[in-house]
Amino acid sequence: SRFTVGLTGGIGSGKTTVANLFATHGAAIIDTDVIAHQLTTPDGKAIAAIRDTFGNDFIAANGAMNRVKMREHVFSDHSAKLRLEAILHPLIRAETALAAEQAVGAYVILVVPLLVESGNWRRRANRILVVDCDEATQIERVLHRDKQKDAHNTSRSTLNEAQVRAIMATQASRQQRLAVADDVITNNVDTASLEQQVTQLHVFYSSLR
Ligand code: ATP
Repeated sequence: SRFTVGLTGGIGSGKTTVANLFATHGAAIIDTDVIAHQLTTPDGKAIAAIRDTFGNDFIAANGAMNRVKMREHVFSDHSAKLRLEAILHPLIRAETALAAEQAVGAYVILVVPLLVESGNWRRRANRILVVDCDEATQIERVLHRDKQKDAHNTSRSTLNEAQVRAIMATQASRQQRLAVADDVITNNVDTASLEQQVTQLHVFYSSLR
């Protein structure tokens, strides 16, 4: 199977930015958040099961999952969260495996925001790459995130500082992520520093595959 680098990091740490830089070196990018989103669009493979399990109330008029309603539901009901995950997780794993087989590129960068939190992914990666960033910078970047760039991502709402902190509290700590990292990119400074670190790692990954 393809040489695969599992890329993770906290909210706003720079995962997407780093993945895009690897793409410029010819790596194939697979993002589990993008796959999860596709599964719940109007023709998505998870829609039938979501309708069967949660009812039509959770399907929007256009046939997609009603994300706002589902987010509120699973936030207040843990068993509902588990039921949703039981639908989505096997589909995400299958779609990811398919995408990795079909991917065109020197190696695969698999972006998994919750890689550390959900242990299953770790076994699927040859290397684990963590984007590390101090928490104040993380918060500032999410608050100032380029809204234009994110316009395509309808599941993403504008967050305030308290909401960002609440999300960070549910995620693994920097220490927990660094403990499982094979490689680390530090993203506290500018994009020039990021480019340099990505170029070095690209040379390294090209030698390993
Ligand atoms: P999320 O977990 O929320 O999806 P992410 O980890 O993918 O976020 P990005 O979207 O790559 O993070 O970065 C968050 C924001 O910070 C973006 O607006 C991005 O352009 C900006 N950013 C990332 N790295 C840098 C940097 N080194 N200098 C300046 N801005 C940066």
